[in-house]
Amino acid sequence: MPSILPIRHQHALPLDQLILAEAPGADAIEMDVLFVGAGPAGLAGAIELARLARADQAAGGTLGELNIGVLEKASGLGEHNLSGAVVNPRAFRDLFPDLDDSDFPFRQRVNAEAVYFLTEGASRRIPTPPTMHNTGNYSASISEIVRWLGGKAEELGVNVFTGFPVDSLLVEGQAVRGVRTTPSGLDRDGHAGADVVPPTDLTARVTVLSEGTRGTLAQAWCQWQGVSSANPQIFALGVKELWKVARPLDRVIHSMGWPLPSDVFGGSWCYPHGPDQVSIGLVAGLDYTNANLDVHMLLQRMKLHPLFREILSGGELLEWGAKTIPEGGYYALPSRRSGDGLLLVGDTAGFVDVPSLKGIHYAMQSGIFAARAIFDALKQGQTSAAALAAYDRAVEGSYIRDDLYRTRNMRLAFKDGFVVGAAKAGLMTLTGGRFPAGRIAMDADAEAPRTAGEETAIVPDGVLTFSKLDAVFKSGNATRDTIPSHLLVGKDVTGEIADFYAHLCPAGVYERVGDELRVNPPNCVDCKATDVLGPRWTPREGGSGPQYRAM
Ligand SMILES: Cc1cc2nc3c(=O)[nH]c(=O)nc-3n(C[C@H](O)[C@H](O)[C@H](O)COP(=O)(O)OP(=O)(O)OC[C@H]3O[C@@H](n4cnc5c(N)ncnc54)[C@H](O)[C@@H]3O)c2cc1C
Ligand code: SF4
Repeated sequence: MPSILPIRHQHALPLDQLILAEAPGADAIEMDVLFVGAGPAGLAGAIELARLARADQAAGGTLGELNIGVLEKASGLGEHNLSGAVVNPRAFRDLFPDLDDSDFPFRQRVNAEAVYFLTEGASRRIPTPPTMHNTGNYSASISEIVRWLGGKAEELGVNVFTGFPVDSLLVEGQAVRGVRTTPSGLDRDGHAGADVVPPTDLTARVTVLSEGTRGTLAQAWCQWQGVSSANPQIFALGVKELWKVARPLDRVIHSMGWPLPSDVFGGSWCYPHGPDQVSIGLVAGLDYTNANLDVHMLLQRMKLHPLFREILSGGELLEWGAKTIPEGGYYALPSRRSGDGLLLVGDTAGFVDVPSLKGIHYAMQSGIFAARAIFDALKQGQTSAAALAAYDRAVEGSYIRDDLYRTRNMRLAFKDGFVVGAAKAGLMTLTGGRFPAGRIAMDADAEAPRTAGEETAIVPDGVLTFSKLDAVFKSGNATRDTIPSHLLVGKDVTGEIADFYAHLCPAGVYERVGDELRVNPPNCVDCKATDVLGPRWTPREGGSGPQYRAM
């Protein structure tokens, strides 16, 4: 069986579309600071900055009123955010020192937890690895968190523009001067239709990229600026379902093993979300080797296991969604996350600790640090790379860096399979990350060869298990059928490659028809998995994609 090397078939990043050496248009909207992406990172940053500016004004400071904008591609706040989620409340407490944990938009406190090793049909409870302890954390819906943070930002006068995807960075020399949004109303061939809305330019003294996992603009900026990392960033794909259940779940569950093959890094979660809902999902590292591996189908299979069947039986699927997670950790962080007029925060920068499956508090904290650095830079009247580098120093001196450094090789150890990885991870925990000395080198996911192996498909019953088409319906995706394709397919895509993409994409965007690839762009839920391994994702008309309510 011939092997597939995904990178050979990938389209290059369209740098000439993403980085425009153009002056903003004459009718550009003038802002002081722009956050691209209304996730926890961007919104926490906007809130902190608005507060600092207000305090400065009240104290008779010189800064004056700041125009802060947050641009979000989803048509409503929270509709493009997906997480587990069990949240460490630390950054919430930092951002809202006057509020109590009970004021935050959490579903419930974690009081009990269990980790299982699964085989098909059986489960064995194992001791909870130290990195996975969650007592004192809270289960939550990130869509709800984002709506709540958005409300707080608006109360402080932040302009939150939903339905406005950013298409390009507008640059002058080495400096970022603003952004251009994506037009809407184009027909399938990219021609202007009757309802066309042309792009809008916005200028900003500082642009903060808070676009989340596999940020397209961040990739472009790093490439343009020659910013690299010790290891390439690597990713996992997570597929999640929200269920209404007949009985409350009494503990946070994580599992390892089945249905994932032993050479795949990943695991599952099942979290209580109040008395009658649970969040359940499966995560798999995108360096897997079986070209037929299909995370959506594996999750469907997983729900048939007695452990989960018992929890879900008599229940109902409420929502479905998928997203990638940056998993490279410390060694995949860009060497700098600041430049002239630009900062990278949250998942875009790679601030995720994989052993604990946590990113929300790091995203928020990095947004807060960005806001403080921007405030100081604006006070000094300059937003050069040197002035904004204070943000990098703040991250370096914080728990974000310490946490990621402690677990720096843990995910990387699993590149040789689960058994070797688990043994090494145990030693790393015992030595506080000192074993092994140095860095475990990784290749980019697209450089890992694949060979078609076992199929994971099952026949969905529509009660406990669902097809990809049913799943996309449950994501709330109602993208218009006639939008131009935002997916850039690379070269030499044979029938085998088409099959690989079809298995990879959880939303059924790709199909093999004969020896050809058929692409159905409206189905896309912006998880970015094929941006990592196949066709490139680019920003598309605002409001396209999923409409998550409580993911
Ligand atoms: C399956 C899964 C499970 C997870 N579980 C947990 C957990 O239990 N606990 C935890 O702490 N973390 C968890 N994480 C990680 C956590 O969700 C992320 O670290 C966190 O959401 C990052 O926040 P962010 O603001 O950086 O990005 P996001 O929350 O992804 O927000 C980015 C925003 O930018 C928008 N955007 C992107 N591109 C553009 C553009 N061009 N123009 C305009 N807007 C744009 C997006 O629509 C999105 O709203 C999980 C992640 C996944 C995928
Ligand atoms: S096409 Fe869209 S939904 Fe499918 S893998 Fe790519 S980004 Fe995810």
